[in-house]
Amino acid sequence: MPEPLSQRPLFKRLVLVGIGLIGSSVARIAMEKREIAAEVVATARTQATLDRVMQLGIADRAELDPGRAVEGADCVMLCAPVGAYAALAEAIAPHLAPGCIVTDVGSTKQSVIRDVGPLIPAGVHFVPAHPVAGTEYSGPDAGFATLFQGRWCLLTPPPGTDDAAVEAITELWRRCGSMVETMEPAHHDRVLAIVSHLPHLIAFTICNTAEGLEGESRQEVLKFSASGFRDFTRIAASDPVMWRDIFLNNREALLEMLARFMEDAQAMARAVRWGDPGFIEDSIERGRVIRQSLIELKQV
Ligand code: NAP
Repeated sequence: MPEPLSQRPLFKRLVLVGIGLIGSSVARIAMEKREIAAEVVATARTQATLDRVMQLGIADRAELDPGRAVEGADCVMLCAPVGAYAALAEAIAPHLAPGCIVTDVGSTKQSVIRDVGPLIPAGVHFVPAHPVAGTEYSGPDAGFATLFQGRWCLLTPPPGTDDAAVEAITELWRRCGSMVETMEPAHHDRVLAIVSHLPHLIAFTICNTAEGLEGESRQEVLKFSASGFRDFTRIAASDPVMWRDIFLNNREALLEMLARFMEDAQAMARAVRWGDPGFIEDSIERGRVIRQSLIELKQV
């Protein structure tokens, strides 16, 4: 059997602006197969991160100044916390070459379009994206090349976005192993509020509640944490800056889902208080059905 011909790189120069868990996973894939970009350049907030990136060998070049980093790039991917996007877009905008595609990986999409969209120069394309894959770890050491395998990547191109630019970013994520779907940004933010942002808010809160217990009870939380609490602590180990930015940049959808959740929690509390076994059992059964559906869709 002849060796399959390797695919030509999609881009000449890919610049990752921020190279933590997500950026370094893309970098690893791009460097390993060379099917995404002929050259990979990294920029970050600190020189220490860039030194580590070069030590790990996951970029061809590192450049601390974001403006200089993006010069001559045909694809720029913002991979920093979403709260940093506006300042980053301002810093890179004058240095973007005509025809370049700016994309991102941020977990909120309306805020990204609001903050970055108006700063994109004429002749440069903007294709917002969100790979729905991750772990609770951060930084360039945390990334791995299979992170996006079999996971969704959601694109939210604003109306009028160049079709070829959307196709190029779609192909980039396919080559990362993802399945790609296009979505309205507002719809994206509502869906992610329930599947990701609210669960994180609940996990952070429940850990705070446990933290606030006194003395012996607090010790026992740690000792017996295998019974449910431990799963929340994994989610709650996520990066505080990244999650602060997500909560503040998806405020409305998150608050709406939180209000719905609190109503449902109140209903459960009422059933517990008044001893309504049917209601309790039904609620748990509906949760189990969701879990079964996820297993069938291979998303666990
Ligand atoms: P991370 O591991 O914490 O890495 C963040 C990177 O951004 C670091 O390289 C950091 O540089 C850089 N950075 C931070 N602030 C910056 C600033 N003001 N200017 C320039 N660079 C800055 O984060 P991550 O988990 O990869 O998340 C990155 C993005 O992906 C976020 O927008 C997040 O919403 C999105 N996302 C995350 C997940 C997840 O599960 N983690 C999943 C999907 C999407 P230094 O190291 O030098 O500080």
